[in-house]
Amino acid sequence: MSVIREEDVIASVADALQYISYYHTPDFIQAMGRAYALEKSPSARDAIAQILSNSRLCAEGHRPICQDTGIVVVFVKVGMGVRWEGRRDLAAMINEGVRRAYLNPDNKLRASIVADPAFKRSNTRDNTPAVIHTEFTLGEHVEITVAAKGGGSENKAKFAMLNPSDSVADWVLDVVPEMGAGWCPPGMLGIGIGGSAEQAMLLAKKSLMEPIDIGELRARGPRNRLEELRLEIYTRVNDLGIGAQGLGGLTTVLDVKVLDYPTHAASLPVAVIPNCAATRHIHFMLDGSGPARLQPPDLALWPDVHWAADASSRRVQLDGLRQSDIESWKPGERLLLSGKLLTGRDAAHKRICALLDAGEPLPPGLDFHGRVIYYVGPVDPVGSEVVGPAGPTTANRMDRFTDTMLGKAGLLAMVGKAERGPETVDSIRRHRSAYLIAVGGAALLVSNAIRASRVVAFPELGMEAVYEFEVRDMPVTVAVSSDGESVHETGPKAWRGQFAGIPLAVE
Ligand code: SF4
Repeated sequence: MSVIREEDVIASVADALQYISYYHTPDFIQAMGRAYALEKSPSARDAIAQILSNSRLCAEGHRPICQDTGIVVVFVKVGMGVRWEGRRDLAAMINEGVRRAYLNPDNKLRASIVADPAFKRSNTRDNTPAVIHTEFTLGEHVEITVAAKGGGSENKAKFAMLNPSDSVADWVLDVVPEMGAGWCPPGMLGIGIGGSAEQAMLLAKKSLMEPIDIGELRARGPRNRLEELRLEIYTRVNDLGIGAQGLGGLTTVLDVKVLDYPTHAASLPVAVIPNCAATRHIHFMLDGSGPARLQPPDLALWPDVHWAADASSRRVQLDGLRQSDIESWKPGERLLLSGKLLTGRDAAHKRICALLDAGEPLPPGLDFHGRVIYYVGPVDPVGSEVVGPAGPTTANRMDRFTDTMLGKAGLLAMVGKAERGPETVDSIRRHRSAYLIAVGGAALLVSNAIRASRVVAFPELGMEAVYEFEVRDMPVTVAVSSDGESVHETGPKAWRGQFAGIPLAVE
């Protein structure tokens, strides 16, 4: 009988979370490399180059791939022949591993979990608790899969109870465009079919833990109906032309996974959960011989892609930026920002707009007139860093505040990720403002452009405080121009229908 020690579970979970914070899986790197080689859209190719370059920087520097280091999801298969040694229950062991990983001073991860989610939403400060799924199997070992799931992609999960005669593929094709780009494509779609409502969601999440193998499947051909469905959805979704970061391009999904389970004769429950450019998961086994030993990947796996600003990008000085400068920016144009940016996300916007609506002054030193805001919640710095990884957060959560920010607060322009809603695009047009996007999933690369950082307001909000960043050559793309043209509308339209005819080389 294997004896599983409490400390082995804790140490293994902690190591696994550190590992996946900076290492993409080899299959993901190879699939992203193939997408880069295939991509014909210049904007999407630039975004994928940033994702790949960021991935390599993180693997080399042991810093997080994304500033959102995720909610921890753990799948445990407990062999019924094992005996446990320790005083904690399984959830407490796993949560101690989470705590240890997220507070690791050498690579502190961002604590993103809030308790009392419907009301106070207070940060638990160590990213606990994890979401844990446990099942019992035959055998004398414990199998653990650890994942860290970003909020941007988790927020786009969809579920439906279809009629048994409905087409699953048609439903997926209806919902994917509704997801927008906040899930940071290219990534994966996990699809769960059958069981009950909650089982379909769980199947969708579980399917994302499997390695990417659609290239092999395309090469050998489908062997059953589920494989046919995977291929159909993969081809039709990529044919939508959404592309990397929703900019329009050939690759939106690197793979489509499907798991199914028997269901009620009256029901067809279906769930889809996307996984983003920061796909993070690892699988290991404990058999009583000690903690898991995780081998670092070979850096030769990363394709020879090193993003660098090219001569086609326009350099923009933020200090002294004028309305007329913004009006000269073209949709889809790549800019390199230098100078001072203010930051802010959900909690800061709520407070700022409440003060402005009540006619009260903003905190001393906080003035948005003539400034550009960056929607970000950075990771804490370690060592000599000015700031930890600091990629963009999903901008449309700030839509309800944008008209006030552009009007009463005097804000000039914004930087975030993914599309804006139609009312916000109209507000941008009326204020002759602009909305720029940085690449989601390239957080360390973006933070390398940040040369200084100081808290300006609301320090008690932690990563949600308002900071002032001084940046040099921060790469962004004009997503909504001052006349209200949105590349998230025009890009996918231009690339729609172009994927299906392109053969994928399998390496
Ligand atoms: S890549 Fe995008 S969706 Fe994924 S964790 Fe980062 S910001 Fe969130």
